[in-house]
Amino acid sequence: MCRHVGYLGPSRTVAEVLTEGPHSLLRQSWAPADMRGGGTINADGFGVAWWPGGGETVAAYRNAAPIWTDPAVVGILTQVRSSGVVAAVRSATVGMPITADACAPFTDGRWAFSHNGRIDGWPESVAALAEWLPAVELLKMPALTDSALLWTLVRRRLGTSSPADALREVVAEVLEAAPTSRLNLLLCDGAGVWATAVDHALSVRVDDVTAVVASEPIDDRDGWVTVPDGHAVEARPGHVAITELTTPTAYREGR
Ligand code: GLN
Repeated sequence: MCRHVGYLGPSRTVAEVLTEGPHSLLRQSWAPADMRGGGTINADGFGVAWWPGGGETVAAYRNAAPIWTDPAVVGILTQVRSSGVVAAVRSATVGMPITADACAPFTDGRWAFSHNGRIDGWPESVAALAEWLPAVELLKMPALTDSALLWTLVRRRLGTSSPADALREVVAEVLEAAPTSRLNLLLCDGAGVWATAVDHALSVRVDDVTAVVASEPIDDRDGWVTVPDGHAVEARPGHVAITELTTPTAYREGR
């Protein structure tokens, strides 16, 4: 399963967020510690999103090649600073396209979104959920992948629901349709990070000035907390809240 990280705090370069720490996302691309059977390495591309000038609009860079082969990581991304960064390395689910467009984070306006996991029974299991979307939303999906559908469902919900509720609602409806799915979702607007842990690893570390939510702790500092399975986390500097998700009986019984 892919790995992702959301960072909020003092302005840093995007490259620092990707590479610093003994267990950085760069290291997790070839030596992840907790993949839970979802692949071995994360070599199917990567992506980063940041908020230029602390602004309202997110910017992104993505590449379908392994992160360790991309000169931007030690080049241009050392020149890009932000107080918010979302980054992901990808291990594509079998049968899904390997393109830059299929790499998280997916972005729109001020939102950046990432997914670790898979929708079981894709695509038949969630066809009815896709039918609920306006055709134009489906036609705008960045790639024909389960993660891109999740992003499209979340983005639609963001029109009417809070970020936390958007993730909760999408997790509940996807688990109802496909109970054995792995749904670690991560959403960020440059000021807050919202994420879910559904059958996959997730940790959070918050202090007065920083908030980091990551598939695996990226450093060995004190204060990392494991987000329990079936829970959501909301984090920003100085604030963290972990709450239980509503999971359908079929999900709990399948555990
Ligand atoms: N299923 C998603 C994809 O193929 C995410 C894969 C993963 O988490 N390893 O892009």
